[in-house]
Amino acid sequence: MTRTRQAVLGLLESTKYPLSPSELYARLKKQNVAIDLVTVYRNLHALKAIGVVRQIKLHQEEQFRYEMEEGREHHHHIRCKSCGKIEDLLLCPLKKLTALIEQETRFLVGDHSLEFSGWCPKCQ
Ligand SMILES: [Zn+2]
Ligand SMILES: [Zn+2]
Ligand SMILES: [Zn+2]
Repeated sequence: MTRTRQAVLGLLESTKYPLSPSELYARLKKQNVAIDLVTVYRNLHALKAIGVVRQIKLHQEEQFRYEMEEGREHHHHIRCKSCGKIEDLLLCPLKKLTALIEQETRFLVGDHSLEFSGWCPKCQ
């Protein structure tokens, strides 16, 4: 594994919410990691291809974000409409509903998406 890939992984591991490539790039620069944006993208794609990193898209945003897939439980996100702050939501209330949907539709539900937005404590 290259040093840049390790730096990208280390940052994703220590961040509790999904980062965009440009955010990752800015933080790596701050840590004096010699990297350009293209390399950030290339590393993210490679990490996604091997299942270490997950790509997500919040519906108010155009860009993709990335977070660790390995070692993280199923979860959802909440985003502040004012400052854009994002947090992981470690609770999922959809288990009962999933069972109900499977019963009603005879589908086998594989995944679902759920996203919250609102105003963070600072922006209220
Ligand atoms: Zn906010
Ligand atoms: Zn997350
Ligand atoms: Zn869920």
